[in-house]
Amino acid sequence: MEPAHITLGECHAIAMEVLTRHGCDEANARAVADTIAAAERDHAYSHGLFRLPGYVTSLKNGKVNGKARPTVERLAPTVVRIHGDRGYAPLALEIGRAPLIEAAREFGMAALAVTRIHHFAALWPETSALAEEGLAAFAFTSSPPYLAAAGGRTKFFGTNPMSFAWPRKGRAPMAFDQASAAMARGEIQIHLRDGKTVPDGVGLDPEGNPTNDPVAILEGAQLPFGGYKGSAIALMVDLLAGPLIGEVTSIEAGDVDNGDGGAATGGELILALDPARFGGDDPIAHGERLFERMLAQEGVRLPGDRRLIARAETPENGIDVPTSLWETIDALRAA
Ligand code: NDP
Repeated sequence: MEPAHITLGECHAIAMEVLTRHGCDEANARAVADTIAAAERDHAYSHGLFRLPGYVTSLKNGKVNGKARPTVERLAPTVVRIHGDRGYAPLALEIGRAPLIEAAREFGMAALAVTRIHHFAALWPETSALAEEGLAAFAFTSSPPYLAAAGGRTKFFGTNPMSFAWPRKGRAPMAFDQASAAMARGEIQIHLRDGKTVPDGVGLDPEGNPTNDPVAILEGAQLPFGGYKGSAIALMVDLLAGPLIGEVTSIEAGDVDNGDGGAATGGELILALDPARFGGDDPIAHGERLFERMLAQEGVRLPGDRRLIARAETPENGIDVPTSLWETIDALRAA
């Protein structure tokens, strides 16, 4: 079978078809398909169609509720909680966005505690969506334990990503989004799929020894970026997406997970700050001056710009789906 070449619209339709066939209702399937298509559009391949088989696995084995009905609760004037009803994160995030924005605009800052979800995607969609509304935003979520704590030799933290987005005038927000791991797990899986080894410093084998073999690392432990510094970020993310909002930590998520390789149950914390309410003189224009001076340096780019360049090109170029992934998706469409 040849690699497939599809449009963004076809990508979204295929994701919808597969998700509804395997247990999602329309609302949940559409929200997940939106994040898959956005990832493909931005060439964030490790969270695009590549994830579709994993989404299906956890729907079929009952870990994830494909018909989740997330509910909203105001815990305090500036704290909104969304109970995700064991579903995938995108629908809960969508439902929580409006009350979070409203509270942030009214009080200058607000938090969204998202509980009982399964996050299997990138975080920049949620922080960027808030920055599109003129807010600065942070997001934190934990994952099952895959990462050794600094000095440790076995899995303890999730790959615990965090994202930050800042609004810009007349253009897409600046958004960075990074795992606490030296290399995202999805990237290691893609190296494995493509028969490649990974660079030094990415992980340990099951005996705790450094290795470049993706199989050994997936069975052993990933390493944090920047040694103890990445480990401290992973710890912070665990606390914010876990104990702070009444959710599990990475290690606790691992205790109850069915080990299907998909997203574990857990939570996400999102913070939104309204730059207009912090007393600065035109903070967005000031931010632009920072970006300008930064970009005047040769070799420097803004985080997220690689995605934005890809985003501009995808409508014309379409999406290439590797043969092995296309075969898997084809089987899911037929099943
Ligand atoms: P990367 O290391 O690829 O990139 C991290 C950030 O750094 C991106 O914002 C990227 O922007 C930016 N960046 C990269 N190179 C440069 C550069 N030369 N100059 C300036 N900025 C740069 O991401 P990770 O591998 O750490 O994470 C991948 C994804 O995995 C994230 O989206 C994360 O949310 C997701 N993830 C999700 C989990 C979950 O449980 N849901 C768990 C773990 C990870 P750009 O995109 O423009 O290159």
